[in-house]
Amino acid sequence: MKTSVIGFPRIGEKRELKFASEKFFKGEINEAELQNEAAALRKKHILLQKDAGIDFIPSNDFSFYDGLLDTAFLLGIIPERYKKLGLSDLQTYFAMARGYQGEKGDVKALAMKKWFNTNYHYIVPEVEDSTKIALSGNKPVFEYEEAKGFGVDTKPVIAGAYTLLSLCRFTGSKTKADVKDDVVKAYKELIAALKNSGAEWIQFDEPSIVKDLDAGEIEFFKSIYSEILKDAGVKILLQTYFGDVRDIYETIIDLPFAGIGLDFIEGKQTVALVDKFGFPSDKILFAGLVNGKNIWKNNYTKTLEAVDALKAKGINVVLSTSCSLLHVPYTLRFEEKLDEKYKKHFAFAEEKLVELKEIAGDPEAVKKNAELFSSKRDCEDPKVTERLSKVTDADYTRLPARAERQQLQKGELKLPLFPTTTIGSFPQTADVKKNRSAFKKGEISEAEYKEFNKAKIERIIKWQEEIGLDVLVHGEYERNDMVEYFGESLGGFLFTQFAWVQSYGTRCVKPPFIWGDVSRVKPMTVEWSTYAQSLTDKPVKGMLTGPVTILNWSFPREDISIKESILQIALAIRDEVLDLEKNGIKIIQIDEAALREKLPLRRSDWNSEYLDFAIPAFRLVHSGVKPDTQIHTHMCYSEFTDIIPAIDNMDADVITFEASRSDLLILDSLKENNFETEVGPGVYDIHSPRVPSVDEITLALSKMREKIDDQKLWVNPDCGLKTRGEEETKASLINLVEAARLIRNKV
Ligand code: GLN
Ligand code: ZN
Repeated sequence: MKTSVIGFPRIGEKRELKFASEKFFKGEINEAELQNEAAALRKKHILLQKDAGIDFIPSNDFSFYDGLLDTAFLLGIIPERYKKLGLSDLQTYFAMARGYQGEKGDVKALAMKKWFNTNYHYIVPEVEDSTKIALSGNKPVFEYEEAKGFGVDTKPVIAGAYTLLSLCRFTGSKTKADVKDDVVKAYKELIAALKNSGAEWIQFDEPSIVKDLDAGEIEFFKSIYSEILKDAGVKILLQTYFGDVRDIYETIIDLPFAGIGLDFIEGKQTVALVDKFGFPSDKILFAGLVNGKNIWKNNYTKTLEAVDALKAKGINVVLSTSCSLLHVPYTLRFEEKLDEKYKKHFAFAEEKLVELKEIAGDPEAVKKNAELFSSKRDCEDPKVTERLSKVTDADYTRLPARAERQQLQKGELKLPLFPTTTIGSFPQTADVKKNRSAFKKGEISEAEYKEFNKAKIERIIKWQEEIGLDVLVHGEYERNDMVEYFGESLGGFLFTQFAWVQSYGTRCVKPPFIWGDVSRVKPMTVEWSTYAQSLTDKPVKGMLTGPVTILNWSFPREDISIKESILQIALAIRDEVLDLEKNGIKIIQIDEAALREKLPLRRSDWNSEYLDFAIPAFRLVHSGVKPDTQIHTHMCYSEFTDIIPAIDNMDADVITFEASRSDLLILDSLKENNFETEVGPGVYDIHSPRVPSVDEITLALSKMREKIDDQKLWVNPDCGLKTRGEEETKASLINLVEAARLIRNKV
């Protein structure tokens, strides 16, 4: 059986591309040096796949920033404001990705969005009415020929026309139908150029067709590909991933694709579709059976059963990854600190290449793999499962009802109208980071480390009192990151040294792995919060990360359900909540920054496959507190207008969220849905260093008051302040407090 890889991580085994790009941005290396580094990485990655024995090896999966941006650039989809800068091609490309500020002008970056249901982000191409779409580059041809030059005949990979068009923003009056002909023409020219260079196969990535599609969308897809495929003269692989293609399966098997790539991991109906409608004998099915998103070893026996079932139907099968390996870390080779007893269960990108080959034809390896899967993985904690089994419906309900609690809390906390607060973190200045890393490296003692942080807390409490904020925070100086910090003090998590995954551009994240049953081993934040509270008469908010966010930003287990894992984490965080309360903390914030992230791609699955357990999990965290303890939550990334009722169902007393960038659209949705939770829509954007004026904040507040009851409105920035400088932070908060005071006087 032949094997195929959809895409390979481009950042490099030790993030070489990131570091080279950053040097280039700082002017430490020139364009030619950056290009050399990139070429060396491409060669290394392709040869690695060749040596592993992969048959269909991708090229053009390399990118300096993002593959969709590459495709837009290739087609000349470049907004005027970037062209006008008059920069080199690569500089123009980076200006679109990162913005440009220099002697030639000042232009912001294009928008960035989450890539389907992953934590990777793509750059949103913008089509203006004046944009002339036409093939205007040769990256795919260049990289195909480059690989041929060192002896590998690759399969060039390009974002498909349908997905490209469905992700573009149209800023003028034109729609995707208006530009379709130009786009099709450009793709046809590209196909001709690749054919000319000798390419046998071309892969078009079309993840957009795993979403819910209506008849018009299906027709649009069909009209694009019936033209693109006409007289193509090369074999075209339609590659889908991140789900199944239930709405369009019958259409695509009728089109003259030479191969179709289907996702058997996330595509819940893929097997059923093939069963029901069959698969044409003149096409190759690229069966995505090796998970491109997880860090776990493949179960070879199961995979082979799936392959055999397809072959039994007479289908011509190539074994493939389920999506690009971009979404997993590069290699296990450098994980020296991870014990072999763990490591033998994992496979990152490099190891997944070996898996493909072994599944395809190494009976010895299959036997060894079966032994691994029949052995017990040391990951269970009976105390955790038992505790979970005793959770009852009542544990998901906080009493009394919110309206009653809100009254009690007003009496207890004695907050003014329009209470002012922040989201949790204060600027993480260099000395704060240095203190943490010195402690981690063992250069300073625990006592020294804590003393430093306590001095910081003391200082920031004084600051907040001086500024006149109503609800204070301790500043989060002990935290590297809102998930890693908790993962480190919870049982059941594993950490790696180098398991980086690209999040966007040069930014990579290193998500922890959930290895086993999760429980709280020791208090995690109580010492910091109670210390902060001991310094002031104003209430200090305890600060935690919620179970949904912790899970969404980790690599999950696969032997138990996501639901079960989230509930385990919920119980662990619940222990911390109750501990904070016991120690005199009256307000506790449980951040759910990433709540929306794992929302299924198909709307029809939103409730049953996610919200129905994610929302109750949050309630389980806080249902045990006293009525007058106030529970806050916080969310980022503004796009939650469509899940407002679910958010209200979390039954928090107060929510703060990012709103400044969404033009306050969300306020309408709050009103329409009779949102009950008290709410602090961010009054200014913390993602830029500018200081908002008092007027600006008062204006934002008066707009909010049109939609939100005065009794329910809080005043706060839109997110944590850790990335900001101290001076601008103080100036901004002084203005925020003043704006709240002015509005109070008007009531
Ligand atoms: N409490 C966190 C902070 O202030 C929230 C971070 C976030 O929302 N991403 O940093
Ligand atoms: Zn936030």
